[in-house]
Amino acid sequence: RAKSEGRNLYRFFEPAMDATVQARRALEVDLETALPRHEFDLDFQPIMNIGSGGIVGAEALMRWHSPTRGTVAPDNFIPVAEETGLIVPLGEWALRKACVAAASWPSLRIAVNVSAVQLKSGGFPRSVISALAFSGVPASRLELEITETVLMDESETVLKTLRQLRGLGIRIALDDFGTGYSSLGYLRRFPVDKIKIDRSFIRDIGNRDTAAIVRTVIGLGAELGITVTAEGVETEMQFDFLRANGCVEAQGYLIGVPSKAADIQRLLKSRALHSQTG
Ligand code: C2E
Ligand code: MG
Ligand code: MG
Ligand code: MG
Repeated sequence: RAKSEGRNLYRFFEPAMDATVQARRALEVDLETALPRHEFDLDFQPIMNIGSGGIVGAEALMRWHSPTRGTVAPDNFIPVAEETGLIVPLGEWALRKACVAAASWPSLRIAVNVSAVQLKSGGFPRSVISALAFSGVPASRLELEITETVLMDESETVLKTLRQLRGLGIRIALDDFGTGYSSLGYLRRFPVDKIKIDRSFIRDIGNRDTAAIVRTVIGLGAELGITVTAEGVETEMQFDFLRANGCVEAQGYLIGVPSKAADIQRLLKSRALHSQTG
């Protein structure tokens, strides 16, 4: 590209910017073709009721197995899918796939992450109803996880949609609780059944102040009649703290890593066997 002598400054910066823009564009193109090419998959991570020690649910976590890029983590492609709008069909696919998997786990709740873009796209409740009908999973077993950024713009559409979904018997969980701008404010304004304490708090639970915050959030949940789930539980020490302080549910590598649907089924069977034999 032609550049006058007087614009050397631009010549210096432009190639690097071009590379970023091009890489981003290439990612968008790959993502766009990944859905029809069946490159996406779901892993499921078990969720435990701390009181009973039983597995009560599983969270669906999206995976992208790209033939050229390898396995791409959701944090690296969900934001792009949100910007291009691909998250709408992709999220619909995930919802359906998760419900179908859950149909073979009697009584387990299935948690599916939902992006703000999906909630704001008018057809969301319809696609939820369709996934439930298709899989035969009752609404009471579906939990939709939204992050606080979903609630940030306080749009009427989002509030109306959440009410409508709850009216169907679906549960709403506030994901990554404590990392947003106004976590308490959202609890007051939006209908929520569960809060998931962000992993960063659990990681730091050895710190006195963090421990106090976690205890307080657990108490808050109890007062409000909201289930509290701790995310990212990795050690016995963290688990013992949560149990001692009355946290209802735990999720994390200590309980189980994200696994294939068949592995969840095996896990449930072996646990059922254990509880029968002793
Ligand atoms: P999230 O919903 O908060 O999911 C929990 C994340 O923590 C998952 O990362 C999970 O693999 C990870 N994790 C679970 N236990 C532990 C632990 O003990 N230690 C550590 N270090 N990490 C743990 P993942 O699978 O990479 O997903 C990242 C985020 O991507 C999710 O955070 C969620 O916000 C988003 N995401 C995943 N699947 C979907 C989806 O289907 N739709 C949408 N919209 N977002 C999704
Ligand atoms: Mg989640
Ligand atoms: Mg989370
Ligand atoms: Mg997260």
